[in-house]
Amino acid sequence: MALMKKSPWVAVYNASSCNGCDLEVLAMLTPRYDIERFGCLWRDSPRHADILLVTGIGTKQSAKRLKRIYDQMASPKYVIAVGSCAISGGVFKEGHNFAGPIDKIIPVDAYVPGCPPRPESIILGVVKVLEKMK
Ligand code: SF4
Repeated sequence: MALMKKSPWVAVYNASSCNGCDLEVLAMLTPRYDIERFGCLWRDSPRHADILLVTGIGTKQSAKRLKRIYDQMASPKYVIAVGSCAISGGVFKEGHNFAGPIDKIIPVDAYVPGCPPRPESIILGVVKVLEKMK
């Protein structure tokens, strides 16, 4: 892999997911998958993050918060939609409170399909965004 010019800070927002995707996101932090080997640092606050991972469908309630969080991030900023729900609404797309998918609420730079996606796939999504940052 080519040398990365950036060491981005990464945060996650759960836009009403079932938590399955969030567990896989958290697995990326463990020594087994170790996202820090790509120079990424995990941050709790999206205000300090360069990359926002979004899980879940984006309900009418969470969509407003997601938009506000995105607006609070400093530019340049990147978003990764994690999981089938974030990409298309998945099994919940017929729900009465569905306001997504995520790219209807905020701009999305990379998509990671799966229900839930494996940590390796999420890391691949992050690496794709790292390539965009060059
Ligand atoms: S994609 Fe699957 S695991 Fe992820 S939030 Fe939706 S239902 Fe849950």
